[in-house]
Amino acid sequence: MHLDWGPEVDAFRAELVAFLDEHAPPETRSQRDYAMGSHEEVVPQWARDWQATLFDHGWMIPGYPPERGGRNASSVQTLVYLEEMSARGIPRSLHFPGYAIVAPSLLDFGTPAQQELVPAAIRGDTIWCIGMSEPNAGSDLANLQTRAVLDGDRFVVNGQKVWTSYAMVAGKCCLYVRTDPAAPKHQGISLLIVDMDTPGIDVRPLTHINGNADFAEVFFTDVEVPVANLVGELNGGWRITQGSLAHERAGLWVEAVARLEQTVTGLVDLAHRRGIAQDPTVRRAIAKGYQQAASLRALGYKGFTSFAARGTSAPEHSYMKLATSELGTSLYELGMEIQGAYGPVIDEERSEEAGRWALSFFVSFANTIAGGTSEIQRNIIAQRVLGLPRSA
Ligand SMILES: Cc1cc2nc3c(=O)[nH]c(=O)nc-3n(C[C@H](O)[C@H](O)[C@H](O)COP(=O)(O)OP(=O)(O)OC[C@H]3O[C@@H](n4cnc5c(N)ncnc54)[C@H](O)[C@@H]3O)c2cc1C
Repeated sequence: MHLDWGPEVDAFRAELVAFLDEHAPPETRSQRDYAMGSHEEVVPQWARDWQATLFDHGWMIPGYPPERGGRNASSVQTLVYLEEMSARGIPRSLHFPGYAIVAPSLLDFGTPAQQELVPAAIRGDTIWCIGMSEPNAGSDLANLQTRAVLDGDRFVVNGQKVWTSYAMVAGKCCLYVRTDPAAPKHQGISLLIVDMDTPGIDVRPLTHINGNADFAEVFFTDVEVPVANLVGELNGGWRITQGSLAHERAGLWVEAVARLEQTVTGLVDLAHRRGIAQDPTVRRAIAKGYQQAASLRALGYKGFTSFAARGTSAPEHSYMKLATSELGTSLYELGMEIQGAYGPVIDEERSEEAGRWALSFFVSFANTIAGGTSEIQRNIIAQRVLGLPRSA
């Protein structure tokens, strides 16, 4: 039996490759690891220009129609697109909330006027942030306390969000608020679109271990939001949160698996350079990483076919989120171990590749937390995949 993609998909890939060869800016080549993708500016100008170029040529979200930055590509073509981009380590955007979460949520739940915000969200002309987490509402998101009180034709918002990515550069926020404190906690939440320059919003950046600050605490004091900015039904916000996270997970695995495969290749090169490629312990550890990454790719394809068939998040996505983020951390740790004493040191001269392995190791923990922690993914697998009861 001979398996191939067929002429239509081959032509699609050839067009994409030609486009990337001609248009991808040199900065996109340095985005391979978490650490190497670090940048002082939260969203640098080259990344803004690149996202707009992708949109204008129908390569931002190929499955969407041209007016939304796509070309009506099929699911298989979209998979080919994601694979080709990630194999080259080329990011679509350096701020994912707008195109990956806000746009699909507004298309599912927004009014016609709200849907007019979608093209700018996908093109990156508007930077969005997502205001979900609070000091006492992370994994238990339904516990959120930021309050919005309906007063005539506006809501008045008071409260605090935390870990809000891109808040310091965002033009708009998808803000989850409590609109009915008397209702059971999942039933009293609403989603508001908030302009970040509204009086009463105070954004305080939080600095990561690597020195970057791309998320923030955001405080709201008597912030007035027009009623027209309510997305979906009043007190119907919980349904939207579930959709948002599913959208976030559906396409992320391709990039995550490609990054793992590239990391394994990097480990092989590193072992050769350090002269320990013959060491049976090192060989076994790298081979195990390779085997795990290959299994994850196969599982990703399985999840892709369920997603394409059902159009909803597949349980495989929870496992992919858990497994790719945790394997990433252990591969970067192996890179530090292979280097010996200078492995955990971030030093331009003494550590390999200017501290790539240590920096990536530290930053990789963010992926085991953001978008739902590893423990929460394990709960989802236990309950929804294995049918185990909730723990007491
Ligand atoms: C890089 C990054 C970007 C982020 N961006 C955003 C953003 O843009 N907008 C936004 O709203 N939020 C954002 N977050 C926040 C993120 O969604 C939360 O950090 C995450 O949901 C966990 O919540 P928490 O930090 O409050 O931890 P907690 O929920 O307090 O959890 C603390 C620990 O307890 C464990 N735990 C909690 N509940 C359970 C349980 N039921 N069973 C087992 N273990 C449990 C957790 O796994 C974790 O180890 C971001 C986080 C990171 C790291």
